[in-house]
Parts: sequence; C-alpha cells; structure tokens
Amino acid sequence: MGLKDVLKGNKVLCKLCGEDKPKLAKSHIFSVGFFGNIESKGKIETIKLTGEKGRRFQNAIYDPELMCIECEHDIFEKLDDYAITTFRDKKGANIISIDKINAKLYVYKNIDKTKIRAFIASLLWRISISTQFELNECSIGRVFEERIRLDLRNNGKFDYIDANVFYFTHPMHSAFMLPQKYKIQPKDKSRDLYAVNGWDIQLPGISMRVSLDKRQNPNRFYFFLTPEITGDANGEKVSSSLHADSLDYKFTAIEFEKNEQSLSAMISAVRKSFSSDRIIIQKYRVPRT
Ligand SMILES: [Zn+2]
Repeated sequence: MGLKDVLKGNKVLCKLCGEDKPKLAKSHIFSVGFFGNIESKGKIETIKLTGEKGRRFQNAIYDPELMCIECEHDIFEKLDDYAITTFRDKKGANIISIDKINAKLYVYKNIDKTKIRAFIASLLWRISISTQFELNECSIGRVFEERIRLDLRNNGKFDYIDANVFYFTHPMHSAFMLPQKYKIQPKDKSRDLYAVNGWDIQLPGISMRVSLDKRQNPNRFYFFLTPEITGDANGEKVSSSLHADSLDYKFTAIEFEKNEQSLSAMISAVRKSFSSDRIIIQKYRVPRT
C-alpha cells in the first residue's frame, strides 16, 4: 500500500492495534535518538556480524508500514524516550570506576525495570515484524510477536524479557550492527539448568544481550557493593537483571572500552577486581521460586 492508496482514501492496517487507518507513521525501528551522539549521524551503515555490509541510511532504519501515528506516539515514542535517557544519557546513574580493569559500573538509582523490559520487547517486535530487507532473517516467531503486541497494548509485565547491558566507549562500537539471535548457555549449573533463547542487540556504544524466554537469563548477576565501593553508608545491592524478582537490586550496566572478551569474562573481571582490592564482594542469588 503506497502513497497512491493514501491519496485515494484507502485505509492501511496498523500492525500493532490492528485498525485500518488513513495513514501510518514513518516509524523508526531503532530510534534516531540513539544515533544522536556520534559523528557519523546521518550516514548510518548497517553491518551484519559476518562483516557483510548492508545499505547506508540517511537515519537509523525506519519502516513506514509498521504502525499508525497514535501507536507510534502513545506507545513507542514514550518507550524510546525513556530508553534514550537511561542508556544513551545514563540519567540517574551513579558511576563507580574500576581503574584496575579500566571499566565503570553504572548503578541506577531508580529505574523502571518494567518499562525497560517493555522497550526491549518493543524493539524485538519491530525488528521481527518489519519487512525491511536487512531484517528479513530476524524473527522472534509468531507466538512472541503476538504476546508482545498484546502486552504493549495492555500494560503487560514482559516477564519473558531480561538483558545484560554493556556500554563501550571505543569509536569502533559506534557502528550499527544488525541484531543477532543466539543461545545463552548456563554458566552456573547449580542455578540454571538450561540454555535460553537470546538476542544480541547493538546500538551505538550500547550492547544489550537479551533473553527472550520464560526461563531466567543465565547471565544475570547479583553483587553486593560494600560501603567502601559505593561511598554510601549501607552499600548497595546491584544486579544486571531487569527481572521482577530483582526489584531489591539496583540495575547496573558495565562499561568497557572495547568488547574484547566474552560476557562472562567481563563479569568475572569486575568481580575479581573488587575482591583483589580486599573489599568483600558477595554474589547474591535470588532464591528460586
Ligand atoms: Zn495503531
């Protein structure tokens, strides 16, 4: 359905609310706001993890056949804005430098974990539903597409979403990578028995290792940061997890210069660097329910 149909007064279907509308929004799959802080703005290149280059874009990828103006404005824009403030601008985060390994821990004072899960779910939905050819191979399957669609319309809890978030400061990480599906293997078999389905989503300087599964993300971690680390009298319970049962833990993201090592190596480097400073670091586990 193109411009001619619109001019003729034909209706177009919004893939989120399912209603016929006179016109759809020129909606971004990846909000252009995530590309606002890099020099190559306006010339985003898509790169697959195989190194194969895709089309160049004036802006981030958009899809004019996804959703209506109301859905874009009332649902997606709000989630995008929240994620941009949180992940790009890092608003509300205390920064703890870990000089020994040249890393930083961003500890968020108050984060709406449900809203972040909703944002990530909405991103996966857009990636999966879009018919843009770069994203043809990206599908989360009909069942999750429909579940996310309904949850976005009904303030769902998105409890099948969790993610480890990393920030990378090296300019090589300002390139845009296409999302990639992968299996998240259990690291600690006394806690997690099964591999779960995941997606690697890369935005400029931001890497989200997302689990899309009713089982918990095997890469979630829980630290207790002592008062010596936080400068706060009581210390801080922090976690990578966005899951509802980690509500007592402040959400944390780790920043490195480059993504040179595996995710578990990065996590254990952070843990080791604390304990080698003779500061007690405990690994908390949320009890299994
Ligand atoms: Zn709609």
